[in-house]
Amino acid sequence: MTTYSDLPDEMKPAASRYLKRMYSNCDFMTREMNAHDLKMIHTMTKMNKIYSDIKDRKSKSITISKYEAQSIDTMTLPPPPPVAPKVQQKEKPNVKIHYCQAIKMDGNVCNSKVKACSEFCGRHSKRK
Ligand SMILES: [Zn+2]
Repeated sequence: MTTYSDLPDEMKPAASRYLKRMYSNCDFMTREMNAHDLKMIHTMTKMNKIYSDIKDRKSKSITISKYEAQSIDTMTLPPPPPVAPKVQQKEKPNVKIHYCQAIKMDGNVCNSKVKACSEFCGRHSKRK
C-alpha cells in the first residue's frame, strides 16, 4: 500500500491538503491511501500545475511615464509604413433627376422623368 512518503515530491502538497481534509483526525503521513485517494491526489496535482501555468502566462500591466513609453515606441516599433497617396476620385456631376408631379387619373403622382425645360413629362406637359 502507498503512504504519503511514497509519493513523488510534486504530489506531496496536494496530497497533504487532501489527506488532512479527508481524514482530519489521523496522521496523514502514515495513513495508507486507497485507489480513490491516489486518483484524487493525482488529479489535484495536475490541476494545480495547469492553474499555475495559466497564471504564469497571464499578461501583466505596469505603469510607465509618457517619456518611457515614447522611448519604448521608438526602440521597438518599426517606422510607420508610408501612407499611400489617396487617389482623387473624380467628382460625380451633381445630377438631379426631376420627376413629373402631375396627378394621374388614378390619383397617383405620375413620376415619369420630366421633359427638358419642363415641369412635366411628355404626356403631361401642356401642348401648344
Ligand atoms: Zn407625367
